[in-house]
Amino acid sequence: PSPLGPTPKLVIDLERLSQLPKDKAGPLARYAATIQSQRGDYNGKVLSIRQEDLRSLAVIYDKSPAELTEELISWGVLDAEARRAVEGF
Ligand code: C2E
Ligand code: C2E
Ligand code: C2E
Repeated sequence: PSPLGPTPKLVIDLERLSQLPKDKAGPLARYAATIQSQRGDYNGKVLSIRQEDLRSLAVIYDKSPAELTEELISWGVLDAEARRAVEGF
């Protein structure tokens, strides 16, 4: 096991996401809204997503998962801990 503990979750900050300009955040916002709708999970301030979903989002944003993770951290949408979640990708 990792000395840093289990792989951290990818937790999207929905409040922060809603404050970002649409040209940047649009695809992620639509993706998150779809997951919320599939789960019936509408009232959260955050949304935990699957590792696999970050892969799909990276394709959508035409970046590697690591590059997209850095961008989402710089936007304040993901916590810096999220870096560890994509190390194995
Ligand atoms: P599914 O993938 O067939 O999952 C059925 C149910 O299994 C989910 O119902 C949830 O109760 C549970 N489940 C599956 N994987 C996980 C997991 O990693 N963690 C937890 N806590 N529970 C899990 P739920 O939440 O009502 O979702 C219904 C369907 O919506 C899912 O069917 C899936 O098709 C889609 N979905 C929901 N959340 C996500 C997501 O984060 N990513 C993707 N790609 N699909 C999602
Ligand atoms: P946690 O995973 O650290 O989540 C802490 C809190 O963040 C949750 O408190 C909830 O308020 C929020 N949160 C995280 N992800 C989501 C999300 O996708 N949607 C929404 N609406 N809120 C989210 P909560 O609900 O009281 O849960 C406390 C702890 O219980 C969680 O800590 C986790 O350890 C466990 N837990 C809750 N639901 C699940 C689940 O579906 N699967 C697993 N494995 N653990 C769960
Ligand atoms: P979690 O619920 O704590 O689940 C952690 C990991 O356990 C998941 O990472 C996945 O690898 C595995 N896992 C949990 N439940 C299931 C399941 O029913 N089927 C399968 N095949 N694997 C399962 P992952 O996929 O990266 O998901 C990370 C977090 O995203 C989950 O943490 C949960 O908070 C959320 N999540 C993912 N999918 C769903 C879903 O369908 N519904 C809900 N409500 N939450 C989900």
